[in-house]
Amino acid sequence: MDHFLYRDGALHAEDVPVAEIAATVGTPFYVYSTATLLRHFRLFDEALDGTDHLVCYAMKAASNQAILKTLAQAGAGMDVVSIGEYLRAKAAGVPGDRIVFSGVGKTAEEIRTALQGGLRQFNVESEPEMEAISAVAQELGVVAPITVRVNPDVDARTHAKIATGKSENKFGIPISRAREVYAHAAALPGLEVIGIDVHIGSQLTELEPFELAYKKVADLTEVLRADGHDIRRLDLGGGLGIPYTRSNEAPPLPTDYGALIKRTLGHLGCEIEIEPGRLIAGNAGLLVSRVIYVKQGEGRDFLIVDAAMNDLIRPAMYDAHHDIDPVIEPAPGVEAYPYDIVGPVCETGDTFARQRPLPPLAAGDLIAVRGAGAYGAVMSSEYNTRPLVPEVMVHGDQFAVIRRRPTFDEIINRDTIPEWL
Ligand SMILES: *Cc1c(COP(=O)(O)O)cnc(C)c1O
Repeated sequence: MDHFLYRDGALHAEDVPVAEIAATVGTPFYVYSTATLLRHFRLFDEALDGTDHLVCYAMKAASNQAILKTLAQAGAGMDVVSIGEYLRAKAAGVPGDRIVFSGVGKTAEEIRTALQGGLRQFNVESEPEMEAISAVAQELGVVAPITVRVNPDVDARTHAKIATGKSENKFGIPISRAREVYAHAAALPGLEVIGIDVHIGSQLTELEPFELAYKKVADLTEVLRADGHDIRRLDLGGGLGIPYTRSNEAPPLPTDYGALIKRTLGHLGCEIEIEPGRLIAGNAGLLVSRVIYVKQGEGRDFLIVDAAMNDLIRPAMYDAHHDIDPVIEPAPGVEAYPYDIVGPVCETGDTFARQRPLPPLAAGDLIAVRGAGAYGAVMSSEYNTRPLVPEVMVHGDQFAVIRRRPTFDEIINRDTIPEWL
């Protein structure tokens, strides 16, 4: 569910007409709904009611500080995968003890900054990384709390580029080697082993892969406890999928996911952490764009819009489907017409949708790309020297620009010309 609905024939973001934002900030832009972000966070939080838990928003999905602050004020922790994200979370006011540091390649410098600033735990991905964390912690005279990310060799049955829990993926240590890796960790002086971490992929549309993985984590918890490790925290990653199409079968709900967690792991008495990203931010954001031209091609018509693959790369990168709606509600009975919706970038991959039925549209009309809140703005680039698009946040009848569009001077002046030229 989201808060982007037609009212009086016009698409609204909560109580604000999308066209009004377009008139103020220009197009294209991202707009996020505070109510939707909070609703999704609370669904997870409530799904784990009765269990000691922390929902750590995987901020790589959408990391604007206004989003982080909104969620942190509601009680969320953060899952970060780089020191840049760590510093951004800190800047948004998230306390260190609610920040979990994940990611396969943390450098000594990143480890040092996080240990100095304070963190909840490192989710360790390899033995060399474990040794590096121990060494930096010793140097600073502290002990680093860690979990080890295990790779349960489970097929998440999602897009290959976002599956992370199979043995051929680069993530975590093979679960079959967990006992020796935990023994190694326990022997390192700068570490305190507190738990187990697992994250099997993104945009999962079934619960079974989670169930397989969490059962393996439950078994492993008992084995590691018998080996003498004080396993008291289980970080279960993120990955719950969202509906990208209205017609799609609905993916599992956070309540069912929470019940699964309690059923598979509840008996262990561990503190539970989850790291949802996409399900919190995905349907809380639209990418709004304006039609520049309608171009007649051979046997098809193109809507050439002012947003492009550099603004939202998911269709090009993951063959992702996004629902696209006109900002003016089509009159009842208007016949839909198939369009190819494309951006101005010089690549055929710069296509948002092919043969998508929409009411007849004309140059100047606004469209909204739905489900663009996660892995949208954060993956954008300035390819073709197109400025990063602004981000706007709506709260009831208010809206605010939370990242402004850079000027061309700012973009161009970032380059420096070497002396010899
Ligand atoms: C990407 C990622 C997540 C979030 O995944 P979603 O599919 O957005 O919920 C959580 N944890 C880790 C370690 C990740 O890399």
